[in-house]
Amino acid sequence: MSILPRRFERIKNVLNCRMKDLTVLVEAVNKPHNLSAILRTCDAAGVFEANFICEKNQVKTFNSTAQGSQKWVNLINHETTISAVSELKKKGLKLYGTTLNDKSIDYRNFDYTENTCFVLGAEKWGLSNELISQVDESIFIPMTGMVQSLNVSVAASILLFEAIRQRQSKGLLPLNGEGLSTTEYQNTLFEWSYPELAPIYKKYGNKYPNLNKNGEIKKVVKN
Ligand code: SAM
Repeated sequence: MSILPRRFERIKNVLNCRMKDLTVLVEAVNKPHNLSAILRTCDAAGVFEANFICEKNQVKTFNSTAQGSQKWVNLINHETTISAVSELKKKGLKLYGTTLNDKSIDYRNFDYTENTCFVLGAEKWGLSNELISQVDESIFIPMTGMVQSLNVSVAASILLFEAIRQRQSKGLLPLNGEGLSTTEYQNTLFEWSYPELAPIYKKYGNKYPNLNKNGEIKKVVKN
């Protein structure tokens, strides 16, 4: 069973543009259509992994709005705000909390060309005070309408594509896999190309096999 060369090419083209230094942290957004729309935007923008604060036993549900994007963006679940913040900061990401309070600054005033995590809040209440106190900057998207806020997935799109715009204008968008480490790239290439086989290798703790240029699994020659 081998992947079709055309499919392999498409997978490589998408993976070549993925970025680990652009992500979102989503707190307490539970509606499947919002989660799905955020993830779909992440996929479109080239986000490699998206972060969620999700209590134990809470299952995130996606619907058709996601168009299967949950298969192409790694989902990282954090059980608490503290663990999410400390893990993301350890990775060197700068946290931009989206808040509509007086201290918040117009999002167009910042440079998102590296290590950026947009922090998005719940449909009704926005970000928790705990998370607001932990972010590096508080940002907002200016509004001139009667309604006070945007849908959370719309806010995510505006911010992610602003980061893309800035990176593109400085020639910083990855085109050949520079946005990932070699190991991440190779492992993901195998997982996306052979989604039925990858879990079996994982289960037995085996390293994924190498692929040739057409995406076929290279045969191991034993002496
Ligand atoms: N009453 C809530 C508040 O004060 O934050 C509104 C929540 S809003 C419907 C849901 C989420 O969408 C927010 O937590 C934020 O992440 C994002 N959002 C909505 N409008 C925004 C805006 N104008 N600027 C930045 N983020 C926004």
